Amino acid sequence: MNIQDIKKVELHCHVDQLLNQHILTGLQPIEKYKKLITGLEQLCPIGSIQDWLENYGPYIDSIVSNNGEFLLKLLELYLVKSKQHNVIYSEIMLSGFTFQHEDIDRQIELYKEFRESADRIGGDGYRIEFLIAFGRTSNRREMELLLNRLLRVKEAGLICGVAVAGLEEENTVKPYTDIFSEFKKAGLGIEIHAGEWKGPQFIWEALEYGYADRIGHGLAAFEDPVLVKHIKENSIHLEFCPTSNLYLTKYKKIEDHPLKHALAEGISFSINTDDPGPLCCNINHEFELVQKTFKLTEKDFDTIRENSLRAAFKPTEEITFENRRRSP
Ligand SMILES: [Zn+2]
Repeated sequence: MNIQDIKKVELHCHVDQLLNQHILTGLQPIEKYKKLITGLEQLCPIGSIQDWLENYGPYIDSIVSNNGEFLLKLLELYLVKSKQHNVIYSEIMLSGFTFQHEDIDRQIELYKEFRESADRIGGDGYRIEFLIAFGRTSNRREMELLLNRLLRVKEAGLICGVAVAGLEEENTVKPYTDIFSEFKKAGLGIEIHAGEWKGPQFIWEALEYGYADRIGHGLAAFEDPVLVKHIKENSIHLEFCPTSNLYLTKYKKIEDHPLKHALAEGISFSINTDDPGPLCCNINHEFELVQKTFKLTEKDFDTIRENSLRAAFKPTEEITFENRRRSP
C-alpha cells in the first residue's frame, strides 16, 4: 500500500502551530526569513510538553501573536502540502492569535481572506473548513465576549465549529455549560480537547456540560469501559494525533496508543497532525506511522475516512463516493 495514494481527512490541526524551519523555506523572499529559520532549527522538533511550554511556546507567541496575515501565509503553504498529500477534507483551527482586530468587522474581513485562500488552493478535489479554537479559561467575562464574537463570525458563514484546548483540570468546562449551549443553538459543531493529559472524567465533563460532538485526543477514554460504550453508542468521534500524543502525553510508545482499541471497538476516529510545526510532522507521516505500527489495511483506511467525513462539522455529501476513493 502506498500511503500517498490514500485519500485523507484531517479534523485536528492548529493554524498557530504550523511554524517551523521547513515551512518557512516556502516563504519568499527567503532572505527575509533566514533569521527566523535559524531560531526555529534550534527549537523544532520539540522534545516534550515542558520544552513546548518553555521554549517553542514563547517563541511562537512573539512571532505570530496578533499576526493573522503571517498565519494566513503559513496556512496557504500548509494547505498546498496537504493537497499534495491527497487530503480531500480539512478542518483547520483558527486561534486567538488570529484575533488581531478588536473591531469584529475588521476581523471578519481578515477571515474572508482565509476563506478565499482555502477556496483557491482547495479547488475541486479538496475542501477546507474553519473552526475557532480558544483556550480553557476561568474568566466568565472573557467567555461571554468570545461567544458574541464567535457568533458574529458564524453569521458571516466563516466557521462551522469551535474547539477548546488547554489544561483540563485547572479550567473545567462545567461552569460555562450555558455558553456551550449557545454555541450548539447557533449550529456550531463543538470539539473539546479532553483525556489528553488527564483522566476519563474530563471527557465525561466535555460531553455532559460542553455538548462535545468530537473529543480532541480522548486517549483516557480507554481507561473507562462505560465511557467507551457511551462513545460508541452515541457516535462520539475521537481525534487522534499520533506524533503529538507520543511527544506530549504519557503514551511514549506508539504500540501502546489506544488507536488499536478504537479500531477493535469500531469507534469513530480520525488521524491528525495537531501541531505539525513544533512536531515536524505531516499527514502522510502520521498515516505511515499508524500503518506500520498497527498494520492497517486499505479497508481500515476507507473506514477511517468515512467515519471522519461523517464527523465533519460541515455536511460533506457533495464529496462524491468516487472522490473519496483511493487514487488509481
Ligand atoms: Zn490540539
